[in-house]
Amino acid sequence: MKKKLAALTAAMALLTGLCACGAPQEQPVTAQVFAMDTVMDLAAWGEGADTALAQAEQAIYHLESRLSRTRENSVVSRLNRAGSLSVDQDTFRLLEIALDVSRRTEGAFDITIAPVASAWGFTEDAFRVPSREELETLLTHVGPQHVHLTDQPLDDSSCPVELDPGTRIDLGGIAKGYASDAAAEIFQQNGVERGSISLGGNVYVAGTRPDGAAWQVGVQDPAGNGGDLVGTLSLTDAFAVTSGGYQRYFEQDGVRYHHIIDPATGIPAETDLLSVTVAAKRDGCTGALCDALSTALFVMGREAALDFRRTSGLDFGLVLVTEDGRVLVTEDLAEGFSQNKESGYVYETVS
Ligand code: AMP
Ligand code: MG
Repeated sequence: MKKKLAALTAAMALLTGLCACGAPQEQPVTAQVFAMDTVMDLAAWGEGADTALAQAEQAIYHLESRLSRTRENSVVSRLNRAGSLSVDQDTFRLLEIALDVSRRTEGAFDITIAPVASAWGFTEDAFRVPSREELETLLTHVGPQHVHLTDQPLDDSSCPVELDPGTRIDLGGIAKGYASDAAAEIFQQNGVERGSISLGGNVYVAGTRPDGAAWQVGVQDPAGNGGDLVGTLSLTDAFAVTSGGYQRYFEQDGVRYHHIIDPATGIPAETDLLSVTVAAKRDGCTGALCDALSTALFVMGREAALDFRRTSGLDFGLVLVTEDGRVLVTEDLAEGFSQNKESGYVYETVS
């Protein structure tokens, strides 16, 4: 029988081990938030837990109200409509990170994919298969060179951003990771040393579990039912983010079209991967970077993803689930990775 975690449907399941708690005072404060199109679960232990969760919840709603493409009055929507806007410093910083990841991944991650993602109907849940001609036209507006950030010194409310005509941005591949950074920061400010944040495939774990052991973060089986896992990662003070074509897709004429688009072609990435999980310690990587990388490495495919990890100079590990039934775990994560022996996958440690 496959390992099941029926209660959680997120791409990344957080095995909190709450039953390991002893005394009542060790119970966490918990919150569930629906934002950014997903259910988010937060848990925190200790004196500052109540305040931390209330602040984290507000921060997530606030970020959503600025970054969502489907909110008419968000900063992103206003920028997309006007083509030019002075944005707040936080949004500006996020755009800087996103453009930096675009350069590092040679365009595999690209927030200007927005018009193409819309043409496939992923933004509005109105799925369709666009023609080659339509995609060719839209692709002329895709590329980080079409986003212009000013170099002038920033003050909090005035950071000018300009988009070339026809260019629009979509932060769906990085916003949840950025929200997990904000929540992690709030935990720290409130002295929360133990806690977990699970934002639809983006997990952050602070400290250890109440029993002193590392947190167990499940990696979902992309080919299984919601709760099936390919294994679990033992993590402390770390982010773990999963991207995969199985997370959102539609089918037409027997063909499956998923939501992660290759900016080079305008079509759903034709990759040899079913999912990519990026895991990194918080002192080595941000949640936003892990989120953007998981999307980019999914587009790049197995060999390029592993090459990128070896040469990027960034400090993160990978769990790759491949189309040919393998689970590849990079050596830095291998010791803390528990395989699900009944999953049917072949497991390999890779560098
Ligand atoms: P994720 O679930 O983090 O992998 O992000 C997927 C979401 O990012 C999609 O739903 C789109 O909103 C957006 N997206 C799709 N393809 C790309 C891409 N190549 N680069 C950046 N964002 C993308
Ligand atoms: Mg992502």
